[in-house]
Amino acid sequence: MKTESGSGTAGGQLIAVVGAGVMGVGIATLALVRGLPVVLVDVDGTRLDDARTRVAAELRMAQLVGRFPDDDAAGAPLTTTAIADVASATVVIEATTEDLAVKSKVFAELSAVVAPGTPLVSNTSSIPIDELAGFALRPQDVVGTHFMNPPYLIRTVEVIRGVRTGAHTMVALENALAALGQEPVVVRDNPGFVTSRVLHPMINGAARIVEQGTATADDVDTLMENCLGHRTGPLRTADLIGIDNLVDSLQVLYDRTGDEGCLPCDLLLEKVRLGHHGRKSGRGFYEYTN
Ligand code: NAD
Repeated sequence: MKTESGSGTAGGQLIAVVGAGVMGVGIATLALVRGLPVVLVDVDGTRLDDARTRVAAELRMAQLVGRFPDDDAAGAPLTTTAIADVASATVVIEATTEDLAVKSKVFAELSAVVAPGTPLVSNTSSIPIDELAGFALRPQDVVGTHFMNPPYLIRTVEVIRGVRTGAHTMVALENALAALGQEPVVVRDNPGFVTSRVLHPMINGAARIVEQGTATADDVDTLMENCLGHRTGPLRTADLIGIDNLVDSLQVLYDRTGDEGCLPCDLLLEKVRLGHHGRKSGRGFYEYTN
């Protein structure tokens, strides 16, 4: 394991985050903003090196927007490629690639490592929580959260209670979210839950409009922002989410619902093929300099 962690232990929490991509970095930043120690795990050591730099940048951003008044207390995440290093966590938040094969293995490994009763939380966008629970030793410990990006700015979090999620897990998660300063809205389990089930086909539809030549991405976003009050426009949102992740989530939704509106459109698939994944790759529907 490398480097130090947050100085505080508010609420006696030790947060483990598995997956150091867009959301893992965001959730780790949120924990540090709240003074909680955090362990960040990834299979890829280079992602962890990058994550340390990105967490530091996110902490500076959190300070700029007034979410984090004292940068001296922030610390940094402990980073590791060994899943066994989450053993003493009070809550584990899984934020790996949106792929059932990846997540199922992670849940099997995590449940063998942590103490019984430790909430195993998936940040999946669309995979039903009960599917993931089926891979854990104790399905009652598995629950879903759907933190939005960036989590330190968006305080409301969708919480998904699976059919086998235990009452003790809901209470432990509630305590962890309170320590993280997040306000939960609990929903039932279903592919895409509420937010992805509504938002992702809508973004797919917006991309189809660009694909058909009806309007440019900028015009679609301007209309959705200025006429319909969508905060960032669907295609700017796609870039923020990560177009690769969005396509994975749409495929999960299509496979489980048969809804044609969820079948990823050719333009999204082409952007993934070209590596134009959005903000994280420097180019998606728009270009980014950092
Ligand atoms: P990402 O592609 O940016 O990062 C995924 C990370 O998981 C990578 O660093 C990868 O190396 C790591 N990983 C893969 N297999 C692993 C394993 N076995 N063990 C440990 N790490 C592993 O993805 P993301 O955008 O951060 O999304 C993560 C999860 O959060 C997904 O389920 C996604 O659907 C969900 N989500 C994403 C957003 C968003 O805006 N991007 C919002 C809400 C939820």
